[in-house]
Amino acid sequence: MADLHVHTIASGHAYSTVLEVARAAADKGLELIALTDHGPSMPGGPHPYHFGNLAAIPAELFGVRILKGVEANVIDREGTLDLEDTRLAKLDIVLAGLHTVCSPYGTVAENTLMMINAMKNPWVDIIVHPGNPEYPVDEEAVVKAAVEQDVVIEINNSSLTVSRKGSRPHCDHIAALAKAYGAKIMLGSDSHLALSVGNFGEAVELLYNHDIGPEQVINTSVDRIYEHLNRRHRNRN
Ligand SMILES: [Zn+2]
Ligand SMILES: [Zn+2]
Repeated sequence: MADLHVHTIASGHAYSTVLEVARAAADKGLELIALTDHGPSMPGGPHPYHFGNLAAIPAELFGVRILKGVEANVIDREGTLDLEDTRLAKLDIVLAGLHTVCSPYGTVAENTLMMINAMKNPWVDIIVHPGNPEYPVDEEAVVKAAVEQDVVIEINNSSLTVSRKGSRPHCDHIAALAKAYGAKIMLGSDSHLALSVGNFGEAVELLYNHDIGPEQVINTSVDRIYEHLNRRHRNRN
């Protein structure tokens, strides 16, 4: 099992270091984690240099494989990300999400277009918390676009526990659509403290209710993760 959505103190509003997060992941028996701190346009977020220096972190810590990534902000309706291509090109994994302050608010049609354009952005491997009620979207259009664009959709455990109140019915609907259309899913803890790395309990239950098995969830297998990322990265240029 792997957790592909993890924050460290570099995000500015998360509270554990890389070593603390990796140690916690090892203690929980995770095989792999992705460090996905927020992109630079998040208030208190890291400077772009943060992403340029990730080579300072080894590829494995305490027996846990470490992917170097970002949770980039979608900053306009064209689906532009808040990190330059030269930096994105060096990352192992790119998550993209709509975030308050960083992403323009709009109508359902405008939000849907923004999210689909982000999925068409060749850098984006996974779209995170699409069930956020702050950015209501046409969920069927989003799930269909995810299948067409070969982008994975996250079911975010924090959206079902501590963050983005009101997400649950949207996540439920998205899971039902993912089951119907065969969209690939990623379970993310969206951990902002080492203790919650690998916490997927609520999200697992939600998928179970929709009869979605582990083979549809990329982070249940390290091989499935690499298969997705390698295929995506061949399309980058
Ligand atoms: Zn987020
Ligand atoms: Zn996050």
